[in-house]
Amino acid sequence: IRNLCIVLGDQLNLDSALFDEFDANQDLIWMAEVIEESTHVKSHPQRIALFLSAMRHFAERLQNQGWQIHYHALSKKHIQSPSSLAESLSKFLSENSVNNILVVLPGEYRVLKQLKTTANQFKHRLNVLPDRHFISLPGEFSEWMSQRKKPVMEYWIRHLRKRTGILMENGQPCGAKWNFDAKNRGNFGKKGPGLLVEAPIFSKDNITQDVLEIVADLFANHSGSLDSFNWPVTHKEAQQALADFIENRLALFGQYQDAMWFDEPFLYHSLLSSSLNLKLISPLEVIQATEQAYRDGQAPIEAVEGFIRQILGWREFVRGLYWHAMPQWKTWNHLDAQKALPSFYWTGKTDMRCLQQSISQVLEHGYGHHIQRLMVTGLFAQLWETNPIEVHEWYLAMYVDAVEWVELPNVLGMSQYADGGFMASKPYVATGKYIQKMSPYCSQCPYKPEESIGDKACPFTTLYWAFLLKHETEFSQHPRMALQIKHLANIDDVKREAIQHRVEFLRETL
Ligand code: FAD
Ligand code: SF4
Repeated sequence: IRNLCIVLGDQLNLDSALFDEFDANQDLIWMAEVIEESTHVKSHPQRIALFLSAMRHFAERLQNQGWQIHYHALSKKHIQSPSSLAESLSKFLSENSVNNILVVLPGEYRVLKQLKTTANQFKHRLNVLPDRHFISLPGEFSEWMSQRKKPVMEYWIRHLRKRTGILMENGQPCGAKWNFDAKNRGNFGKKGPGLLVEAPIFSKDNITQDVLEIVADLFANHSGSLDSFNWPVTHKEAQQALADFIENRLALFGQYQDAMWFDEPFLYHSLLSSSLNLKLISPLEVIQATEQAYRDGQAPIEAVEGFIRQILGWREFVRGLYWHAMPQWKTWNHLDAQKALPSFYWTGKTDMRCLQQSISQVLEHGYGHHIQRLMVTGLFAQLWETNPIEVHEWYLAMYVDAVEWVELPNVLGMSQYADGGFMASKPYVATGKYIQKMSPYCSQCPYKPEESIGDKACPFTTLYWAFLLKHETEFSQHPRMALQIKHLANIDDVKREAIQHRVEFLRETL
């Protein structure tokens, strides 16, 4: 074999650099389904099924064009060996003669290390090719970063918009403003989200049916349901999901991107993250289609800018930061948070309505939208002083779109402040009143978001004040936290003590 071309489960794009010089007569594609990738964090069954089904569809597509593939598949009668990517690759290399091993930069530092070590054991150097799925060019983020003291996403997205011309007109941002965030913080008031058009249903072909059976059999003890599985598993289905989003939800995406509602997990969101992260669809394809919708008058600038900001801005930004700060990022615990993740994160069984709603949706669909992730599950974990690695592992396991390069910065950086402000400019902490403003959850909850002490005190509110009291010294000098800290002056000693008592009560009872 001249080139052994490794395709990982989140690298399912035909325009990959891996295939540039692929010669079916001398090269071989290597793909493997292994138990460890679903158990190193105990993954949601829908996350596992999505990866396996999409991988099998991609392998079929490659085979249909006459390319040879070595594919190690899991089966119901699976014997647990080889159980990891490293073992599987070792077995192959010990049985075959290979000249070169090629892989596109993996989405996880752990996998890169495993593959490098295995290749070295067989006296090979792993050839790591650049990932051209992304809009930023190889080295572009490091170069941009080297000119700054602190990375700020707003300047990163402006840099990319200027370079690419995305949402630009004659060198100026479309709509004459770079940022429409101020218009994009709406809630649904009392009337609710209106008539939502259901996302398309993707039919389950034989490949998907097989995979669902295997996953149900092998991973029966993992948290999460398989019943509602409906994620795109091919490029064509991802394109259908994109078209459906543009037609039915894009126009109101911006206005309601932070809003939440009862039993409505998807609202005006695109549901494209899993397709993007598995590379079933490219970010450029998504961005161009939404920009066109703006130019055709189908959606207002605030919706389209707000949406493109997520993909061109945040998605590219967190990827740059991940490779800049790994593997150290995983070791940081700036606030010294040491508590265990509450067990209801795995069951949804809690009387706190916001958490019950947000977690139940994740268990049912492997999905939650951004504000549920940041300001409900993420916020509570932070206020609870949960060990950041436990939080990271929960997020990596439970969401269908979780791949470490995008999950880890969002969790350890944006949501838990475990990096002490490397990524986020301040901890995203708030009382239950924020959740009350953005959702109707508090109206059906036994607690009261405005109360921090007493039987009805909202746990978010109690823990928020306890958090500020604990970190008062550090944050009193922080330019973006000073105002929040100033409010501590209104809390007298008696109330401070009552807050601490309530925290102790929560720790014993929640
Ligand atoms: P939409 O709301 O429709 O947004 C459009 C797209 O923008 C998304 O598909 C996604 O590709 C991109 N995007 C939006 N926000 C971000 C962001 N902060 N970082 C990177 N890309 C973004 N996203 C993941 O893809 N995988 C994860 O594992 C993940 N974990 C997260 C954990 C936490 C604690 C938080 C706060 C956010 C996380 N996000 C993650 C980002 C974001 O919440 C999801 O991308 C989004 O909710 C996916 O749903 P959607 O496709 O309907 O997104
Ligand atoms: Fe959540 Fe507190 Fe509101 Fe209850 S009162 S739903 S716990 S924010």
